[in-house]
Amino acid sequence: MAAVDPHSFTDSTHPLTTHISLSLYFDFPSSTILASTLISLPTTHSGPFTLDTRSLSITSVLDPTTLTPLPFTLTPPIPHPVFGQSLIITLSNHSQVIIISKTSASSSALQWLSPPQTFNQAFPFVYTQCQSIHARSIFPCQDTPAARIRYDAKLNIPRQLFAVMSARHVDRRAPVVGSGEARGACDDSLWCGDDRVVDDFLMEQPIPPYLFAFAVGELGFRDVGPRSRVYSEAAPAVLDAAAREFAGTEDMIRVGEKLFGPYDWERFDLLVLPPSFPYGGMENPRMVFLTPTVIKGDATGAQVVAHELAHSWTGNLITNKTNEHFWLNEGFTTYAERRIVEAVQGEDRAALNIGIGWKGLVDAVERFKDNMEFTKLKTNQEGVDPDEIYSEIPYEKGFQFLWRIERQIGRPAFDEFIKKYIATFKFQSIDTDTFLNFLKANVPGIENQIDLKLWTEGIGIPPDAMEPVSSIYTKIVSLANEFKLGRMPREDEVADWHGQEWELYLENLPKYVEASQALALDARYRLSESKDYEVKVAFLQLAIASKCRDYFGEVEKTLKEVGRMKYLRPLYTALVQGAGKDEEKIFAKRVFSEARDCYHPIAQGVVETILRKYV
Ligand SMILES: [Zn+2]
Repeated sequence: MAAVDPHSFTDSTHPLTTHISLSLYFDFPSSTILASTLISLPTTHSGPFTLDTRSLSITSVLDPTTLTPLPFTLTPPIPHPVFGQSLIITLSNHSQVIIISKTSASSSALQWLSPPQTFNQAFPFVYTQCQSIHARSIFPCQDTPAARIRYDAKLNIPRQLFAVMSARHVDRRAPVVGSGEARGACDDSLWCGDDRVVDDFLMEQPIPPYLFAFAVGELGFRDVGPRSRVYSEAAPAVLDAAAREFAGTEDMIRVGEKLFGPYDWERFDLLVLPPSFPYGGMENPRMVFLTPTVIKGDATGAQVVAHELAHSWTGNLITNKTNEHFWLNEGFTTYAERRIVEAVQGEDRAALNIGIGWKGLVDAVERFKDNMEFTKLKTNQEGVDPDEIYSEIPYEKGFQFLWRIERQIGRPAFDEFIKKYIATFKFQSIDTDTFLNFLKANVPGIENQIDLKLWTEGIGIPPDAMEPVSSIYTKIVSLANEFKLGRMPREDEVADWHGQEWELYLENLPKYVEASQALALDARYRLSESKDYEVKVAFLQLAIASKCRDYFGEVEKTLKEVGRMKYLRPLYTALVQGAGKDEEKIFAKRVFSEARDCYHPIAQGVVETILRKYV
């Protein structure tokens, strides 16, 4: 067998799936899904055929025409903790196969929320997060971005609930008795129960499996543009706040189209999830998933929307072939996001974003100082859990690389280059070498002007990377430097600061200060009580590192009310990393044991890794 992807059991000699048809029965009381997966291949295949699975029980594998069982095995017998097990089916001249399976309550892609964990506290809620390699914990698939699939799905859910997907909603209807539409997922007695309804979806554009997504709950929506709706739990206060925050969505889509070419996904809807959502946003096509922490009431959440929107071109249209080339998704998207922000909110706002990103890059390089492999753009991830090495590097070093090329050839030429790149590779999955060859072919001589090998294969930050040039950026950084000398900014100096200015300021302070200095800063500017989590968490991190235990209460509250890994990772790390932290370690362990059930399984895993490393 030859591997396609270090994170997948997919065999390069097997055909790649082109279409998947799913029948999914949602059983909320047991937090499981009964699934029938019909896999279609482009050609007939005989012999072993390998799929990825993780914590699935496989009930049977069937020939779709005769419904006779086909032989299968699961290996290794003891599942790999990260990659799971390969399901090896023996095919004989088949181009289709049906797998009947059941998820486990610990499926790493799914978070099941009981009614008390939701905003209205009336109905349960479930949602997916499949990136990087969690789709295999919902249904068996070739779980590599090298495989691009179209899909259709029937979601059988309780009548009081609504379903959304990263796909076109076709119909909401009663289940049909005797139609065979459950396709073996469960009996008609379950599928056609009185309290059940079926939502039908269709995804006609080929996507990598990590972009498969659904959410089921008591959902409502508001229209925010001609092709955009914002969905959330059906609470008027949440929906109204989200509609206000994202009112500028259509303007951003138009800017994106001007810069990168037509928006190819028809609709751009947004789903605001419960606070446990582990990321800021997830670029699921047609239906971006967002953390509620981006709703700040001042439209700065638009930056996350700009990022997820930009993925519609870079990431979703052109996809990294494996996670080893993740910068092709995230570096391009960070570049594209800042171009959208610059067009919509101005150069200063874009410069602040670049400055915050620069600090993030410096810190990420520091985080990997003992394992510099993961400071490269093109990485070797053999045997590595992609969630564990997730960092700002592919985002910010990738951004810096593209910005460097822009500076070399000028913006008009770079804009033309990006448009051509997207048009050439859309709906394809590519690697770093494919990008570099395209760059060299279209920008002759570029390899003599920029050290492309150093940028893509070298460690750390190349010497020709740079900080943004902007007066507001320079002023904030110099104010942060003055704090080191004991001067706090005056009120008139910060009068027009929003969250991002404070975030940049705090991130440029030393890692720790005298506890009295942290207390004095907070006494004047109330940063620990900020409604903006970026500011609040940056301050709490400083307070913890400065051994200022007055804030344990606020830290505990924060760790229990949000599950976004951008906040969990630095707060837990600040608590347990370093010497003389006995009290902090006991505190961190207790808070995690109490908060764990409120975190998504991916976030649980990340926090467990941090605690294992330091406690
Ligand atoms: Zn992204």
